[in-house]
Amino acid sequence: MRIAVIGLGLIGGSLAWDWTQAGHEVWGLSRNPETTRYAQDQGIISGSLKELGELAGEDWDVVAVCTPIGEVLPTIAALAEVVAPTTTVTDVASVKGSLVRSATALCAGFVGGHPMAGTAAQGIRAAQRGLFQGAVYALTPLPQTQTLGLQRLEKLIRDLGAEALICDPDEHDQAVAAISHLPVWVSAALIATASQQGSLAWRLASSGFRDTSRVGGGNPQLGVGMAQANQQALLGQLQRYQAHLAQIQTWIEQGNWDCLRALLEQTQRQRQQFRGCRSS
Ligand code: NAP
Repeated sequence: MRIAVIGLGLIGGSLAWDWTQAGHEVWGLSRNPETTRYAQDQGIISGSLKELGELAGEDWDVVAVCTPIGEVLPTIAALAEVVAPTTTVTDVASVKGSLVRSATALCAGFVGGHPMAGTAAQGIRAAQRGLFQGAVYALTPLPQTQTLGLQRLEKLIRDLGAEALICDPDEHDQAVAAISHLPVWVSAALIATASQQGSLAWRLASSGFRDTSRVGGGNPQLGVGMAQANQQALLGQLQRYQAHLAQIQTWIEQGNWDCLRALLEQTQRQRQQFRGCRSS
């Protein structure tokens, strides 16, 4: 397929790299010439674009918008003016509901997507081959979404070694609020709490703290963007989380070790339902 990736950062660069490796013709667009030069030198992309207007009148199968969340909709609005109606336009934003509805209204060839993989790093130099291997890649079509676009993306997702999961955009947002957006702020609060403890805590911190602090120590623009874009769902999950914490605090005050043990026995079983947790 002939693919253009807009926004060559961690996600855009990693997608471009795997698609190039899979034999697709992948072009990249960045605001920074140094980014596309690096991407071409590394073999991440085979050609570079300077502006969206260069996509006009050309035969592109897929354009993937991989910019920060706040830039996705303006980029799709601009793309809708230039790409052919047969081009599939997709995004990778972590929040889907209203974005998918607005993007589909702007651009008939739009299919919302969200690869469920990442790291704490950002920018083209953070791009990795194989980042999506074994990962779930959510696709969030609406009833009017074009079948051709869905089929193209399902093929590209297979080429990443990932698994396509079709879901409703609003249900997607509720689910990621619980498993992705809430953990960022829980982890950030944990880091802030530990840092009040002083240097001995940092010297003693090891693998457990590394695991629980990872997402709170990630890309600030991404974390805030997710909270802004999924505010209501995140607030609902924060409320539920605080209720659990309050209950735990009460049991600890009461010395109710039976209830605390029962909770951990239950969460130990529940964690096994998450496919990524089965081996750790
Ligand atoms: P990133 O590494 O910061 O990459 C975003 C890239 O977009 C930047 O490298 C930048 O490239 C370009 N960009 C920044 N501002 C722009 C603007 N105003 N207009 C046009 N391009 C701009 O971030 P990322 O982690 O790849 O996130 C990108 C998207 O992936 C977001 O929508 C996010 O929700 C989604 N996502 C992230 C993760 C994750 O874990 N990181 C996982 C799944 C999905 P240039 O400076 O070279 O133009």
